[in-house]
Amino acid sequence: MQKLTKSATGKGPAENFAGEVWFDQIYRGEEPSRARVNAVHFAPGAHTAWHTHTMGQTLHVTEGVGLVGTREGQVIVMRPGDTVHTPPGEWHWHGATAECFMTHLAIWDGTGDPDVPETTWGEHVTDADYHRAQP
Ligand code: MN
Repeated sequence: MQKLTKSATGKGPAENFAGEVWFDQIYRGEEPSRARVNAVHFAPGAHTAWHTHTMGQTLHVTEGVGLVGTREGQVIVMRPGDTVHTPPGEWHWHGATAECFMTHLAIWDGTGDPDVPETTWGEHVTDADYHRAQP
């Protein structure tokens, strides 16, 4: 076994994230593993833009109160211990509520093809959609 070297905490870029979002890479498998695990920390009000994951994604909340929303208007409120799966290709966003920090583990798989992106990003979530999603 080996203890892995932690990479520096990264900031979510403004093209893809609204508000303050920071992520820690927990694990990135080397082939044949394609496992990906990040801890993602959202300040109150912070959230992703619309996006899809080619291989799907599983979110597991460790702190705070979070939201995940779909194009069809479904919203799930996520609390510590909750796990939410978004299937391959489903457009969604996720983040903190307006009033609470939130941290989740994001678990997904690489595509195995450098020409096929793991995540496809779309436009930012509108303020109206974000506020409508609040618990
Ligand atoms: Mn996602």
